[in-house]
Amino acid sequence: MNSADSESLARRMLAAGYVEDSLERADVAILNSCVVRQASEDRVYSKLHELKEWKSPGRTIAVTGCIVAKEGDHLKHRFPHLDAVVPIGQYESFVTDLEARYDYAQGEPMPAAGRTGISHYVRVIQGCDHNCTFCIVPRVRGREQHVPLQAVVAECRQAVAEGAKEIVLLGQNVDDYHDPDGHGGLAALVREVQLIAGLKRLRFMTSHPQDLESELLEVMAGSDVVCRELQLPVQSGDDTVLRRMARGYQTRHYRAIVDNARRLMPDIGLVTDVIVGFPGESEAAYLNTRALVEEMEFDVVHIAMYSPRPGTFAATRMDDDVPHQEKLRRLNDLLALQREIAARKTARWLGREVEVLIEGRDELHRPYGRIRQGKRAIVLRGRDVAPGDVVNLRVIQATAGQLLGLPAA
Ligand code: SF4
Repeated sequence: MNSADSESLARRMLAAGYVEDSLERADVAILNSCVVRQASEDRVYSKLHELKEWKSPGRTIAVTGCIVAKEGDHLKHRFPHLDAVVPIGQYESFVTDLEARYDYAQGEPMPAAGRTGISHYVRVIQGCDHNCTFCIVPRVRGREQHVPLQAVVAECRQAVAEGAKEIVLLGQNVDDYHDPDGHGGLAALVREVQLIAGLKRLRFMTSHPQDLESELLEVMAGSDVVCRELQLPVQSGDDTVLRRMARGYQTRHYRAIVDNARRLMPDIGLVTDVIVGFPGESEAAYLNTRALVEEMEFDVVHIAMYSPRPGTFAATRMDDDVPHQEKLRRLNDLLALQREIAARKTARWLGREVEVLIEGRDELHRPYGRIRQGKRAIVLRGRDVAPGDVVNLRVIQATAGQLLGLPAA
């Protein structure tokens, strides 16, 4: 979501005649912030401290992103060298103010075309109407606003015309998408976007188990363009904890979705998020999560130790009662379990032919990309392969994190 916001601001600035440059040579530095965890918020503060050295009378420092909704103008009191605090999406007036300040920036407006990379992110929902008790997103991103379906399709068409091969539809809870003009939900949108000529891949994220409909899974299963990957956070494998998190589903519902997805697409890639050490998570509750992770055999599990985010329901109304050491033990235990599962699952790709959309070259100059199920893959002996190509690869080696293979004959 932040990448999409950065891209949108960068496009607006390029259109006004600005160019991207190194920090040393730049006049304007903009920090796009994330506050989903304390660590990400702290990184913004530390970057702002660092920029104090960089600041001079002719230079501008701006902050945008979620921290603006959380801290507002208070940021300027704390960091007097900060010039602008820009709310998410309100880039127009910021760029206009900059133009008044740097009148030499009236050079050649650059069309934003050519900026589009292999993957293009398109925000279809801003904000979230859920109220998970641990989450700060609804406070900083507000209630859901849905982009009209025709506007999304037009943006996707434009991106593909500019060279994008993959579109990623974004929403904090993307399954909740509905066209404000009444032309259907996410399944209808996906059905339309996948028809764009020249588009090779279509992804969407992040799904919510309460809102994901089987119609969407059916559209995925019937398409050669929609990727077979679901980002479906479960957060906990214990129903009591899920209730305290206000997630709105139970584990049996989650299992039913996964069963249905795997019935339609047996090789679907499944990515989830888990929080360990949530308030009230007993040892038995943790073991339920562990058992669920073992049973589901996810491809990737993003595991976080619970830490209270000020301003959330859990931080103000629940006792953070799982000791830090215990949270750490659960985290490491789950990480070790998932490492085994991931290695086992990845090995199943050995000898198979997979389709890779090439994104770039790694540090050893080998072309890399991702398969339709989301896994990273490296092309060995792929000297002529370029970003944007789709390569059929015979997998000859598999690690927990990636596949390696040779172009199939
Ligand atoms: S659905 Fe996701 S973004 Fe929305 S409140 Fe819950 S965790 Fe936060």
